[in-house]
Amino acid sequence: QAKARGRCRAVLFESAMADVASHRLKLEQGLRVALEQQAFRLAWQPVVDLRSGRLVGAEVLLRWTHPELGEVPPARFIPVAEDTGLIVPIGAWVLDQAVAQAAAWRAQGLAELRVAVNVSVRQFDQDDMPARVARILERHRFPAALLELELTESLIAQEVSTELALRRLRELGVRLALDDFGTGFSSLAQLTALPMDRLKIDRSFIQGQAQQGSSQAVVRSIVALASGLNLDITAEGVETLDQQQWLLSLADMQAQGYLFHKPMAPEALAHLLQEGTDG
Ligand code: C2E
Ligand code: MG
Ligand code: MG
Ligand code: MG
Repeated sequence: QAKARGRCRAVLFESAMADVASHRLKLEQGLRVALEQQAFRLAWQPVVDLRSGRLVGAEVLLRWTHPELGEVPPARFIPVAEDTGLIVPIGAWVLDQAVAQAAAWRAQGLAELRVAVNVSVRQFDQDDMPARVARILERHRFPAALLELELTESLIAQEVSTELALRRLRELGVRLALDDFGTGFSSLAQLTALPMDRLKIDRSFIQGQAQQGSSQAVVRSIVALASGLNLDITAEGVETLDQQQWLLSLADMQAQGYLFHKPMAPEALAHLLQEGTDG
């Protein structure tokens, strides 16, 4: 009896594993096709000045609709893209599209918008990463100072070559931000060794602020750290007026979140920018 039950469980487990594997394979194949057919889109989320709500930039977020599975969130497909190396060509596409779009808006006189692009550590496996970025900026005649690359703390565990690449990017004038800050395990010493311009406070701490004293303490320390290291701050995931008020009591900073704007299609952002220039 027990044995039979055990076997039954094992079979269930195996078939669950097979499901996971075949799902991953489906995603991987889908990503290859999407790359070939240029089936990705970019959503743009405005970054605002926390106090005034004035638009200061935008982060581009990759969007993908699978023909059978429908809309697949980046949290599901980015890890697959990273494991398979597909993130390298996908990331190159994102960067080129984002800069092309921002350059077009700039040429139309819409805005001097800072564009933030998420970059995976895997993209640094190529040693000519800074040169690739430089070529994209040149091709679209876009100022390096208006491009910000968002990296995660996993970067810190990387080789010296990655740190060199970061320095070269910064020499180009590109800005660097540490995304989801506070969720990784970097030490302060490691942080000061990295060439960074901005810390983005992970939204879990912003949203935990009302309930948990520990989240408040984390946010306070990040704000103090940023001020000591002369780094800019962006608060992620600001959803309520309460959160906005509380953050403003700590420091002036920039913010992203549903309180201000959700990620939107490029046409919608162009519309917002248009209103801004009219007003
Ligand atoms: P991220 O870079 O930290 O991006 C912010 C995420 O928070 C986005 O989720 C955004 O839609 C969401 N968000 C913004 N404001 C709010 C809010 O007020 N409330 C809530 N609940 N969420 C908010 P999204 O678009 O699902 O992206 C998830 C992650 O996927 C990104 O986190 C980033 O790490 C990764 N990702 C997205 N696009 C790319 C890309 O082109 N390349 C790479 N390497 N990673 C990407
Ligand atoms: Mg980001
Ligand atoms: Mg983030
Ligand atoms: Mg994130």
